Amino acid sequence: MSEGDGKAARKKRPRILAITTDCCTGCAGSPACIEYCPIEACMFWVPDEDHPPFGRIEVDPYLCIGCQKCISKGPDGAFLDGCPWDAIEMVPTDDWEAVHGITLPDLPPAPPTA
Ligand code: SF4
Ligand code: SF4
Repeated sequence: MSEGDGKAARKKRPRILAITTDCCTGCAGSPACIEYCPIEACMFWVPDEDHPPFGRIEVDPYLCIGCQKCISKGPDGAFLDGCPWDAIEMVPTDDWEAVHGITLPDLPPAPPTA
């Protein structure tokens, strides 16, 4: 499984965020979306404990920059725009914050120190 190249980083709270819906199948263990996300660890794998090796992809709202690359590019050679299952939605950050009762910061939280 490839991941974001880690070359980009969030500098400002985005206007929109990506979220994944229950339609996410995890692409049966080979997520097609994750390689297009430019932010390391922003799209991450959540295993389905009851049905290994299946799982799904979640988006970290503290890392997402709202670039929409995950919904505009599909699996190589598939001629699809974005997720084959339409399981990624872009939502206004204001709406996400209202639903979750959280105000997202511009920058990602600093990693915990040991
Ligand atoms: S491409 Fe779609 S179905 Fe596949 S892992 Fe990503 S969000 Fe889930
Ligand atoms: S919108 Fe951009 S940063 Fe957010 S999950 Fe999609 S590709 Fe990653």
